[in-house]
Order: sequence, then C-alpha cells, then structure tokens
Amino acid sequence: MTIEDVKKEIRDIQDFPSKGIVFKDLTTVFKNAQYIQFLSDMLYNQYKDYGITKVIGIESRGFIMGAILSEKLNAGFIPVRKKGKLPAESYEMEYQLEYGSAIIEMHKDALDENDVVLIHDDLLATGGTLAASISLVKILGVKKIYCNTIVELTALHGRKLIESDVEFISLIKY
Ligand code: AMP
Repeated sequence: MTIEDVKKEIRDIQDFPSKGIVFKDLTTVFKNAQYIQFLSDMLYNQYKDYGITKVIGIESRGFIMGAILSEKLNAGFIPVRKKGKLPAESYEMEYQLEYGSAIIEMHKDALDENDVVLIHDDLLATGGTLAASISLVKILGVKKIYCNTIVELTALHGRKLIESDVEFISLIKY
C-alpha cells in the first residue's frame, strides 16, 4: 500500500457544507481498517522518537487519528473543541473564517511546560484552525510543538500561518 492508494479513496463532495466548497471526505478512508493502520503507522514512525507526551486532536475530525496516534505514541490525548463544549475552565482563541469568525477552546490544565505536543487535524485549508490551536498551546508554554494533517490544500497557502518554530507536515497534498 502507498499514500497514493489512500489518496484515491478520499471522496470529493461538491458544494458541502456550502456552495463553492469541495469537501474532502475522509470517512471513505477511515471505514477501511487497512487504511487506518497504514496512516497511523506512517505517523507513528514519523514521531516515535520525538518524545511526544500529548497529542492534541482538533474537533471533530482530528479526534479520530489523533486518539489512535496518542495510544501508539504512549502519549495523552487532549481535545481542542469549539466554544462552549468543554466542561472545565478553558482558554479560548478566536480566528477568522472565510465569512466571520470562530472560537476554539482548550482546558487550562491540559498541558504543562514539560510537554512535547503534537497537534493533529484531518485537513489544512486556510490554516486558521491550526494556527489558532498553536496559539492556544503557546499560552501554556510547552517545550516543543509539532503538528500535522492528513490532507493539505496547498492552493490555500495555510502553511504560511504556521510559525517557523512549529514543525508541520502533511501526508497528502492537493
Ligand atoms: P482551515 O482553518 O481553513 O485550515 O480549515 C481547517 C478545518 O476545516 C479542518 O478542521 C477541516 O476538517 C475543515 N475543512 C476546511 N476545508 C475543508 C475541505 N475542503 N474539506 C474537508 N474539510 C475541510
């Protein structure tokens, strides 16, 4: 199996969730155990020697591979969620969407200064969500931040929003 085989399984949904958007649907990848194993092995091999102590999954599609990866890396799992979903005291970060803005949150006691963090989401588009997640993690002052997505939409240049002290990789580029 190669990453190109996985790419072929990603389904394009036209005009979802709104007109003009081509939604990259990964449910067609995740429904196949072999693809889950292939992707999680690939990410595990990439990060196994980095001393990751916490994997952060971004709501909600980042929870799937984020949780699998945390188990493989013997790291804890931390959710970054949309405003109002987390039960305990949280930090919040507002960021711009194409139209309007959104707020994400993380528990104040989720991380400490000794943590080495891997932030995971399924897809990088404009980069706003990942950049806001990095800012949230930086409030807590961890040792080092890595981040990755399975898919990157390169035409949107989301990478530009990721600060140079944060190492970013994506597995599949469009
Ligand atoms: P952005 O903040 O623009 O980088 O958007 C990234 C977030 O929105 C991720 O959590 C993705 O799951 C979701 N997303 C944005 N655009 C798409 C797309 N074309 N297909 C699938 N998910 C997308």
